Amino acid sequence: MINLSKEKCTGCGACNNVCPNDSIKMVADKEGFLYPLVNAESCSLCGLCQTSCPVLNREGYKRDVAPKAYASWSLNDEVRLSSTSGGIFTELARSVILQGGYVAGARYNKAHLAEHYIIGSEDDIALLRQSKYVQSAIGVVFKDIKKLLDKGAPVMFVGSPCECGGLLSFLGRPYDSLLLCDFICRGANSPKAYLKYLESLKLQYGSDIKRVWFKNKINGWNKFCTKIEFENGSEYYADRYKDLFMRGYLKYNLYMRSSCYRCSFKGFPRQSDITLADFWGVELKDKSVDTDKGTSLVIINSEKGQRHFDELGDRVFKEENSLEAALPFNQCAVSSVGIGEKREYFFSEIDRTDFEVLISKIKETEK
Ligand SMILES: Cc1cc2nc3c(=O)[nH]c(=O)nc-3n(C[C@H](O)[C@H](O)[C@H](O)COP(=O)(O)OP(=O)(O)OC[C@H]3O[C@@H](n4cnc5c(N)ncnc54)[C@H](O)[C@@H]3O)c2cc1C
Repeated sequence: MINLSKEKCTGCGACNNVCPNDSIKMVADKEGFLYPLVNAESCSLCGLCQTSCPVLNREGYKRDVAPKAYASWSLNDEVRLSSTSGGIFTELARSVILQGGYVAGARYNKAHLAEHYIIGSEDDIALLRQSKYVQSAIGVVFKDIKKLLDKGAPVMFVGSPCECGGLLSFLGRPYDSLLLCDFICRGANSPKAYLKYLESLKLQYGSDIKRVWFKNKINGWNKFCTKIEFENGSEYYADRYKDLFMRGYLKYNLYMRSSCYRCSFKGFPRQSDITLADFWGVELKDKSVDTDKGTSLVIINSEKGQRHFDELGDRVFKEENSLEAALPFNQCAVSSVGIGEKREYFFSEIDRTDFEVLISKIKETEK
């Protein structure tokens, strides 16, 4: 029966998806992160939860090809501007769907939390587009993907490296028709902290929230602007230095999942076919084409990944670059960030203190 420490369990849900008699539920802890809870009475001790856990079965991973790095973006400006980086996710998803396939990624649910969801129509790509900086709930999406793959349908899965690892170990065998995309991941934030942040803003604006956009590009890709639309028509904009949720995430490392501070899914070779990221510090041959609308770092990890990327043809700008040039600006590809000094304090206070007040207190202590 699965029994991982909180520092190790990533919450990928592979155990919950694989359990043959539904004896494992994913339950939120006091920080708001999902962990497996086994019903010992109905558990048949079959051991499938342990053999499908990507953390317990983390073997050395081999690749026949060396990773290749590209600077790239969608040539459709609407797609590029509404995406987090260069919009390459949307172009890959469109291509898979036009071949009769399905795409699984994170959408916002009615409570504004992220959850994985499968789409089969080009019109629905916008639901999955955009980074949601809160941990996504996998639900039973791994089981649904397996059903599609077993029917022979092409499927593209996008998720954090540990979610990709979870899907692979849940499936237990490679599928030619599965395109696996991960992203360079700083870490997954607590759904509870995120909801507290939204509650604080709802109070300030006297309105429910309509939609959250992280890294909105109204002032340029580099600004990391958070945009929130409220039901009463108000709009909130704040860059990474002013927005308190981004500050707690990027500066204070306050509310990431415990396993993210010692992530075992970093580095190379990667399990995914394609890794998507922001190409910070990019140097293009023709500097005039860099317009701060967002540049994706696309890392090709397999021949399958290369084939899918090449199929995008003239819908994208692409220029081969070097991984060595990209990684110094994106250390999260290879190493975890340190645990925030005030993380414990944050979670001890969050149930009784307003989010903004709490982060402001933490901000004061740094002076
Ligand atoms: C939590 C998180 C941390 C990240 N950290 C870094 C980083 O340190 N460095 C870096 O360069 N890039 C990071 N990224 C990736 C980056 O923000 C872009 O998502 C990526 O470059 C793809 O951009 P795009 O323009 O091609 O597509 P986009 O349209 O932005 O597509 C984003 C894709 O990611 C999926 N997704 C969104 N939110 C989540 C989530 N919470 N969990 C799982 N899947 C999700 C969406 O379904 C979609 O498929 C992170 C993303 C997330 C979600």
